[in-house]
Amino acid sequence: MNFDFTEEQQLLRKTVRQFVDSEIMPHIARWDAEGGFDPAIWKKLADLGLMGVCIPEKYGGAGMDYNSLAIVCEELERGDTAFRTAVSVHTGLNSMTLMQWGTEEQKLKYLVPQAKGEKIGAFGLTEPGAGSDVAAMDSFAKREGDYYILNGQKTWISLCDIADHFIVFAYTDKSKKHHGITAFIVERTMPGFSSKAIKGKYGIRAGNTGELFFDDLRIPVENRLGEEGEGFKIAMSALDNGRFTVAAGAVGLISACLEASVKYCVERKTFGKPIGEHQLVGQMIAKMEAGYQMSRLLVYRVGELKNKGVRNTRETSLAKWQACDFANKAADDAVQIHGAYGYSDEYPVARYLRNSKAPVIYEGTREIHTIMQADYVLGRREDKPLNKMLPKWPFAE
Ligand SMILES: Cc1cc2nc3c(=O)[nH]c(=O)nc-3n(C[C@H](O)[C@H](O)[C@H](O)COP(=O)(O)OP(=O)(O)OC[C@H]3O[C@@H](n4cnc5c(N)ncnc54)[C@H](O)[C@@H]3O)c2cc1C
Repeated sequence: MNFDFTEEQQLLRKTVRQFVDSEIMPHIARWDAEGGFDPAIWKKLADLGLMGVCIPEKYGGAGMDYNSLAIVCEELERGDTAFRTAVSVHTGLNSMTLMQWGTEEQKLKYLVPQAKGEKIGAFGLTEPGAGSDVAAMDSFAKREGDYYILNGQKTWISLCDIADHFIVFAYTDKSKKHHGITAFIVERTMPGFSSKAIKGKYGIRAGNTGELFFDDLRIPVENRLGEEGEGFKIAMSALDNGRFTVAAGAVGLISACLEASVKYCVERKTFGKPIGEHQLVGQMIAKMEAGYQMSRLLVYRVGELKNKGVRNTRETSLAKWQACDFANKAADDAVQIHGAYGYSDEYPVARYLRNSKAPVIYEGTREIHTIMQADYVLGRREDKPLNKMLPKWPFAE
């Protein structure tokens, strides 16, 4: 057991931290208020190799280990959840899914430009009538010769107006329920595709989230990901990677809450002393620190399991559930510590609180993860290795 970061990982953390401090922090309050960030950020993220950090070099990535992806997510979310969400869907939900399930041709065509940051990937699973209950989806893809004709709608899709490629899920045989869902790679430029942003979001306002519409969208058969009927399994395995990035980001959000709160504890005085000297304020700081340290351990343990090529659905679910709950509580306490000033946009903590809520909802709500953990402990659920696993790290040449 080794709790040390490698020199390469430490350098990566320093690089992302500097990037966040210089390129995100000075602008984020405005981007959050305006509802979008400068698109030039994408190129800067790509130039630093952050769009494919744990993708093998032969597929255009940086070839680093899975915990390096966690470091990137942790540091980006210290800046704002919108940037970590972008990496979660681009790398965690899309590129890593292509890496795990794609054919060599699909990897060369879609993964390589995504890992280099030349193209952006996203993930469309949720529908208006199907969130936690994935199998309630309505989207349907009918095979016609060398094409599938896809009709349906997705909602709450991160990067809906920005991504070039989407992994989407639709029924190809409704009678088979979960086993009748199939995954497809869809390009924005395919006729029949359109998207529309959702306005008036509570948090992650600098990020783009919205709907996808498929109107007789013709998908070539070679864009089917995996076999017909493997879609549900592929979606759940994608979530093992997405949830890992969400959990890592939550660690970064807690560290941002600590940073802001510790500073304010020293600056603000009541009853003749800095507020940090009041025991009840100190208690909130102590709980933040406990959440931070515990979440970190859970996250980096999952990264190690991924490095070893071991299935980690159970550990990932626990890390995601706990880290996001801790981050939500830490952000709530950070606002509390700032008193009325925390309730304004003069300090970043109100943004942290708004941003901390979606991660408790997406990629499995708090309730879904609670049920999963109970099922594991009570012996109602057990995972076997999948027929295609994420490659171990170090990657084969
Ligand atoms: C900002 C944001 C970005 C998102 N990005 C994406 C994306 O990129 N791609 C994508 O596919 N989706 C995305 N989502 C959608 C997200 O994954 C879903 O919102 C989530 O899965 C929950 O589904 P739902 O909102 O339909 O809630 P529902 O499933 O309708 O749940 C409503 C409530 O009922 C509870 N509940 C449901 N079933 C049970 C049960 N069996 N037992 C106990 N309680 C239950 C839930 O926990 C929740 O509290 C995003 C959402 C947000 C907010």
